[in-house]
Amino acid sequence: AREIQLVSRPQGWPVPENFRLVENPVPELAEGEILVRNLAMSVDPYMRGRMNDVKSYSAPFALDAALDGGAVGEVVSSRSAERKEGDVVVHGLGWRDYAVLPASSSKKVDPSLGSPTAFLGALGMTGLTAYAGLTRVADFKPGDTVFVSGAAGAVGSLVGQIAKALGASRVIGSAGSPEKVAHLLELGFDAAFNYHDGPAKDLLRAALGASSGIDVYFDNVGGEQLEAAISLANPFARFALCGAISVYNSTQAPVGIRNLPLAIGKQLTLRGFLVGAHQDLSDEFATRMKRWMADGDVHFDETVVAGLENAPQAFIDLMRGANTGKMVVTLP
Ligand code: NDP
Repeated sequence: AREIQLVSRPQGWPVPENFRLVENPVPELAEGEILVRNLAMSVDPYMRGRMNDVKSYSAPFALDAALDGGAVGEVVSSRSAERKEGDVVVHGLGWRDYAVLPASSSKKVDPSLGSPTAFLGALGMTGLTAYAGLTRVADFKPGDTVFVSGAAGAVGSLVGQIAKALGASRVIGSAGSPEKVAHLLELGFDAAFNYHDGPAKDLLRAALGASSGIDVYFDNVGGEQLEAAISLANPFARFALCGAISVYNSTQAPVGIRNLPLAIGKQLTLRGFLVGAHQDLSDEFATRMKRWMADGDVHFDETVVAGLENAPQAFIDLMRGANTGKMVVTLP
């Protein structure tokens, strides 16, 4: 079996030399375990944080050991009554073509609902992040004006479309290229801007149109766009702090929120969250998401890279914005 290991911790931007492909024998199954042939694995921005040797909400990756992360695969042998051969399961041992794990650490999914990769994206952790962050953390209400950064990415593109489906009065997205901006408008965003085109505050103000300000900000990036959202927020606006990718690869201390007093004066709510704390919404989310997708309200894009050996590059490219929608690696 093949796996990708971390051989050195990236300093700033990750490079291919931080990773290596290793071949190992497949371990024997112990009682209660299953062997899964992975069909697809996820590369996610949060993995960058785990490549640093710092304490965070998820443990750092060990050096000279396989990386891990979301994956979907088919059970090829089982020593558990819970799973049988042929079951399709989601689990946490990506970055390898074969995974051995306790059956209890896997979640069985219905393959008739979507392609394997969908369970890593719209129907999986990505979708739940968008749904929980918008509806619970940001306490979205119909009629709200919503701004989402990283809007052409996996989570962001879902946030904007879900907000529209739930009756937002205006949805604004930001992304890093003119092609992505055009794509957001195709997805039904009311306005979109390329954050490279000038000061985020000016671009966001122009995108507001007739709206007085934003009621909800779903933040995937932090930095200047977070400051712009504070400047253009309506009183009592709610911010869901989901990610801060603009600082993940920085080797310098990030600049603080320079307009923080405005957040106080406007009595804003800035609330960070982790999707893992919102698993109780899984069933509600899955029911609604399947319906939105079937009705065409939510369209889900993927950028698919084939081959385990290409997973490190897919991860590096993700950090650089090469993806539209969810970046996934298929393991043929
Ligand atoms: P994306 O699909 O959005 O991929 C990352 C995107 O970030 C890139 O495509 C790129 O798009 C954008 N980006 C890169 N650098 C910058 C920058 N300096 N400023 C602005 N945008 C940048 O990834 P996900 O949807 O998987 O994740 C989005 C965010 O949500 C991440 O911050 C992630 O950590 C977070 N997250 C948090 C979870 C939680 O539980 N809190 C769970 C899942 C994700 P572009 O071309 O537009 O620059």
